[in-house]
Amino acid sequence: MSSNVVVAKFGGTSVADFEAMLRCAQIVHDDKNVRVVAVSASAGVTNHLVSLTQAEHTEAERQHLVDAVIAIQDNILNQVKLDTDLAEGFEATLSEFKALSLEKSLSKAQRDEMLSFGERLSSFLFTQVLRQVGIDAIRFDVREVLKTDSNFAKATPDIKATKVASIEKLVPLLSEHVVVTQGFIGQDPVGQTTTLGRGGSDYSAALLAEAVDASSVHIWTDVVGIFSTDPRLCVKATPIPRLSFDEAAEMATFGAKVLHPATILPASRSGISVFVGSSREPHAGGTWIEKEKRSEPGIRAVTQRKNQILLTLKSPEMLLASGFLARIFAILSSYNISVDLVTTSEISVALTLDNAPNASRPELEQACLDELSQFCHVTVENNLTLVALIGSEIQLRHDDSNLMRVLSDFNIRLICHGASKHNLCFLVEQSDSDKVVQAIHQHLLESV
Ligand code: ASP
Ligand code: MG
Repeated sequence: MSSNVVVAKFGGTSVADFEAMLRCAQIVHDDKNVRVVAVSASAGVTNHLVSLTQAEHTEAERQHLVDAVIAIQDNILNQVKLDTDLAEGFEATLSEFKALSLEKSLSKAQRDEMLSFGERLSSFLFTQVLRQVGIDAIRFDVREVLKTDSNFAKATPDIKATKVASIEKLVPLLSEHVVVTQGFIGQDPVGQTTTLGRGGSDYSAALLAEAVDASSVHIWTDVVGIFSTDPRLCVKATPIPRLSFDEAAEMATFGAKVLHPATILPASRSGISVFVGSSREPHAGGTWIEKEKRSEPGIRAVTQRKNQILLTLKSPEMLLASGFLARIFAILSSYNISVDLVTTSEISVALTLDNAPNASRPELEQACLDELSQFCHVTVENNLTLVALIGSEIQLRHDDSNLMRVLSDFNIRLICHGASKHNLCFLVEQSDSDKVVQAIHQHLLESV
């Protein structure tokens, strides 16, 4: 880390309308170290775009979705007049969007192209808002530097290529301008647009921070940091001022919706601190995620991730055999499925997958199940929630018997503990999960 450069990322609600954008512009104005800004699509836009990529809509429904996207832009444009350079780019992008929206059945590449329009449009508008508060801002197409593979809907970044391109094309701009660019999107080796998966703008910001050798990433969202649990569920939830990279990674992975789980990877790899705060209340503090030598042992948070699939694979062939798990995981990986929890017994293995609503593609395809069924008995259970206790040195010892007492009221489908001292996870019925989280928070995290 050799610079003071800060990469700021503004999420969908932070750039939802003109007033929200103006608050963000003030944040950039007040921190001269912010040289790169990555924006999300304005709130709601990506959901409409995901809908547009789904073939089953009638023409009228498609038009309705296109109109809804345009209405969000127009609402901002009512209060912002674009300079010529931005207006030209904006209009051209909008025309591309309208043209693509006429196609009924989209290829995987076209679907990612469709999803990219939200960020591409909001970045023109936000650049202008920055100019309105006196900042010398330019818009930059992130696809020139954020290089990925061609795994559409969930592309993997090419860290090296991204770094090389950023040094050549992005870094030279930073001494003179604040560069506004897009989160979420990238480009594959043959120039096709890719996306990093839903919520990927945080990840983009961290990748850009790494590529330009920034000292920190500021993630501006609609909450004042990462909470001990979802404050909508527990009124006594409190923001956590500091988290280690490990704890933050676990929290993001296990459902604290504030950060995309991959964000911590580049940050911890390159020692870049991450701040999470609210663009509505920039002075209200937030959470700093940093390298920490020592974290207080104990439970810091409880999270939940709904819509989990539990896949149980059973085969007598597994008895005393080797290579069964390797075979399963090879198939899952060929479908690019990422597994969260795994438990095994002598002849079966249970694993959990995410089935997020509004994901840009379903996690579990029938073709994958068919392939697995060729050599084992497959059971799929839905409507489950993964609840995770996050902290440091979490151990199921006698002093955690409180936990067992709290959980004894609920049906626990699976428990995972031991692979990491930063979490203890279990799977519960979705209909119980809010109550489980409330009970755990109340007994283990409040007034202790
Ligand atoms: N706009 C994208 C989404 O809604 C990416 C992001 O906002 O992080 O998933
Ligand atoms: Mg987000």
